[in-house]
Amino acid sequence: MTPTRLITRAIRRPGLIVPPFCRPVLLRLSGQRFSATESHRQITTTATTANSQKKEVRLTAESYPSIERDARFAKLTSEDVAHFRSICPVLSAESDDLEAFNTDWMRKYRGQTRLVLKPKSTANVSEILKYCNSRSLAVVPQGGNTGLVGGSVPIYDEIVVSMNSMSNIRSFDPVSGILICDAGVVLETADNYLAGQGHIFPLDLGAKGSCHVAGNVATNAGGLRLLRYGSLHGTVLGVEAVLPDGTIMNDLSTLRKNNTGYDLKQLFIGSEGTLGIITAVSIICPPRPNVQNVAFFGVNTFEKVLEAFIRAKRELGEILSAFELMDGTSQRCVAQVTGKTRPLAGEETKFYVLVETSGSNKEHDDDKIDKFLMALIEDETIVNGVLAQDETQQRNLWSWREGIPEVLGHWGGVYKYDVSIPLKELYSLVEDVKARLIEHGLLGEDKTVVDVVGFGHMGDGNLHLNIPVRSYDSRVEQILEPFVYEWIQKRKGSISAEHGLGVAKREYVQYSRGETELGIMRSLKNHFDPVWPAPVPIRASCC
Ligand SMILES: Cc1cc2nc3c(=O)[nH]c(=O)nc-3n(C[C@H](O)[C@H](O)[C@H](O)COP(=O)(O)OP(=O)(O)OC[C@H]3O[C@@H](n4cnc5c(N)ncnc54)[C@H](O)[C@@H]3O)c2cc1C
Repeated sequence: MTPTRLITRAIRRPGLIVPPFCRPVLLRLSGQRFSATESHRQITTTATTANSQKKEVRLTAESYPSIERDARFAKLTSEDVAHFRSICPVLSAESDDLEAFNTDWMRKYRGQTRLVLKPKSTANVSEILKYCNSRSLAVVPQGGNTGLVGGSVPIYDEIVVSMNSMSNIRSFDPVSGILICDAGVVLETADNYLAGQGHIFPLDLGAKGSCHVAGNVATNAGGLRLLRYGSLHGTVLGVEAVLPDGTIMNDLSTLRKNNTGYDLKQLFIGSEGTLGIITAVSIICPPRPNVQNVAFFGVNTFEKVLEAFIRAKRELGEILSAFELMDGTSQRCVAQVTGKTRPLAGEETKFYVLVETSGSNKEHDDDKIDKFLMALIEDETIVNGVLAQDETQQRNLWSWREGIPEVLGHWGGVYKYDVSIPLKELYSLVEDVKARLIEHGLLGEDKTVVDVVGFGHMGDGNLHLNIPVRSYDSRVEQILEPFVYEWIQKRKGSISAEHGLGVAKREYVQYSRGETELGIMRSLKNHFDPVWPAPVPIRASCC
């Protein structure tokens, strides 16, 4: 049995009941070699295999007949393709398989592009957009294509501008911790580079092995450690972007303070490619914490999850770096699809929580998390739990949270809602949606809907409501929408916490934004892109 810190403490304190943290549950996992990416890839393989056996993804144009191709956009000619070939490498439907660029990660959206451009420099992007603007050719910027709202793939024949080939780290300043990198640097590559410098990328998410830094900025991705490092609106210091007419906006500042007029880069953070193509980013990266702890525990009621969260903030304070919620259904799905041994033995609980701390003083941090967990178990706020004893175990515990999105695609498809709700009611949405689907006879073993799952970044009031289905079905969509959006509107929440609008939510933005705000957004789009003023509502593509 691996000696744990908690056993040591328990022995030193006579009379204390040895908590379930002392169970050798993690021993069973210790022979396996996991890294976050490895585990992610491992699950990816499972789901991709399942996906690849599925039928072809339906064209977005067929699923959403209300979105018509704007007839003012020109059709691509062979002269256009020849011109683009003189600028940068291209992939064309005549000679290449463009399936990966046309289909999104969820296999829910499929476009019909016939051309993918792969610029190698900001100058290339500028030439491309200038030409597209003059010829009225529509484009969609694409990063790692891991977006979850269908914004990264075309709907019709828009040209895909893939940022894959712009992948250089431009500079890193070890004194300030400021990284400047090209748009197409993969998040995990940036973080690995920073690890070598003793720093950390202030954003982490399950798709880190594929998503791009500029894709993260374009979606204002939140991810797993927003609780600790804050949003990209705070950490991104500068953006270089090419506007729809080809003009290069160089706001690649490395200044923390710059109150000289409007903060223009902020407009691009979360703009989903509607205002231009981001070609480089400067971002402040904190020193990498050298001590981390990861605990995973079971809780029986949502009220007790809230209690544990309040106490985590109070008792772990500055070292708390993640507080992730997973419901029992999500964990059953991960166990079923991956076949892995669950971290906690014994009876299932309704909720599970992953808590991570990051700091610099091992003794101090260990002591804090030990006391925190012991207190929770002693007063029965939590039922059972494990505390990882090394990095391998930490990564394995994380895989039970990070693996959820991938696993849920196993049955055929997933309806995804990424929402912000006042914390007290965070989980009621899952219960209400489940009741509604049962009431309409759509959920069950031989029905379209497999189950209703809730998980998310509890520390940020962000719930991921996921509904795995055996196939996408308009009856399910009609039961869910606008019900989910109305439910959120009543509680003054947001219909998009971190994934953006894309195609999925373009019709529903008014549930979270007033007419005045939408009017300002439209005028901004029209200012940046006067030739192609914003349709109503704004859509996620550059021109
Ligand atoms: C397993 C998994 C876990 C995830 N976890 C999270 C999470 O925890 N938090 C979270 O917020 N998201 C999460 N996501 C969603 C997704 O990973 C993020 O939205 C990510 O930031 C998208 O980056 P990307 O490079 O893949 O962008 P893409 O998917 O390629 O594009 C997303 C949008 O940004 C635009 N875009 C891309 N690059 C540029 C550019 N250079 N300039 C202008 N516009 C651009 C596209 O047109 C599109 O509208 C997850 C996705 C998966 C598959």
